[in-house]
Amino acid sequence: MHALVTGGAGFIGSNFVHWALEEDRYDAITTVDALTYAGTTANLEGVLEDDRHEFVEADIRDADAMADLVADADIVFNFAAESHVDRSIEDASDFVATNVDGTRVLLDAAAEHGVERFVQISTDEVYGEILEGTFSEDDPLTPRNPYSATKASADLLVQSYYETHDLPVVITRSSNNFGPRQHAEKLIPKFITRSLAGEELPVYGDGSNVREWTYVVDNCRGIDLAAREGDPGEVYNVGASAERTNLEVTEAILEATGGSEDQITFVEDRPGHDQRYALDTSKLEALGWEPTWTFEEGLEKTVENLR
Ligand code: NAD
Repeated sequence: MHALVTGGAGFIGSNFVHWALEEDRYDAITTVDALTYAGTTANLEGVLEDDRHEFVEADIRDADAMADLVADADIVFNFAAESHVDRSIEDASDFVATNVDGTRVLLDAAAEHGVERFVQISTDEVYGEILEGTFSEDDPLTPRNPYSATKASADLLVQSYYETHDLPVVITRSSNNFGPRQHAEKLIPKFITRSLAGEELPVYGDGSNVREWTYVVDNCRGIDLAAREGDPGEVYNVGASAERTNLEVTEAILEATGGSEDQITFVEDRPGHDQRYALDTSKLEALGWEPTWTFEEGLEKTVENLR
């Protein structure tokens, strides 16, 4: 089976490519990435020279380029996206263009050429915030920031191609990921790097916002399982149920890096900052998935990579 991985020079996509080649999950993988500020071929170091792997620099909004790449693929994994919430609040235009229209371009190519699976990589943020309990896959989408609104729009488009074009789609929605190769703008790598440098760690608001954290390799395993064993047209939540307030994450990072609590500063909260996300992952667990990394083990590995 030949897999096309979009956004594979970014954080989760590159971890997926490394993991899938290590585990020999596909006969061939083509990684396509526009190499925006968030993507770098350095993330593909070690697999660029692998005979089973090819890297192509292209934009998912380029319909001709995507038609050629999708025509050669049996399965498409769409990781490519603008992914940073703060940037989407500043200017949402690239988010709409890539996350919504880029997904539409890929869906058209997949509908035209036919694929065994079109796998859309989505996020728990599409459900909006939840103060108690967990979101299941049938819950309504109530995104609250421009990033999650574009991801929710893409999910709806993907589901519409299942209904109208019989495209065998699967959507995965994971909680916050962390691990090697994550861009330094994101909370965990930013705070690890700053803590190691003895700098301040700027925590939004009072640090009480709760996120669920999944080590990136567990998400890659979940995505692969949902792609193979999941039913077409279905959504699968992926999450390791490791709930932490942002302040608890900050304290865990300080402990893992030998930093001091004096480095913590509280800064003005992000507008529309969702208070809590949490996922019910029983649907994916019924396919045989369970997380294999605890939050602490994942953090240790991530710190080790950034030292
Ligand atoms: P990332 O920002 O690290 O990587 C995104 C990659 O997409 C980059 O390599 C970038 O160059 C590429 N890209 C952006 N626009 C492109 C375009 N127009 N054409 C081709 N390539 C383009 O993001 P990530 O954290 O690896 O997230 C990957 C996917 O997983 C995204 O769809 C995101 O919404 C989703 N997701 C992320 C998390 C998380 O915690 N990081 C959680 C749930 C879901």
